[in-house]
Amino acid sequence: MFLHFIRAKWREGDWLCTNCSNHNYASRAFCNRCKTAKESSVHPGAL
Ligand SMILES: [Zn+2]
Repeated sequence: MFLHFIRAKWREGDWLCTNCSNHNYASRAFCNRCKTAKESSVHPGAL
């Protein structure tokens, strides 16, 4: 896939925080930067 061409370190399952655009590993349930939950990033507004 072309994503592998753009990001060599991008692993399958990794996700991008919609709050701060931080790249998080697939094993992370919360954003490494802003602690936003992986699932809640789909539907913000929990606060
Ligand atoms: Zn974040």
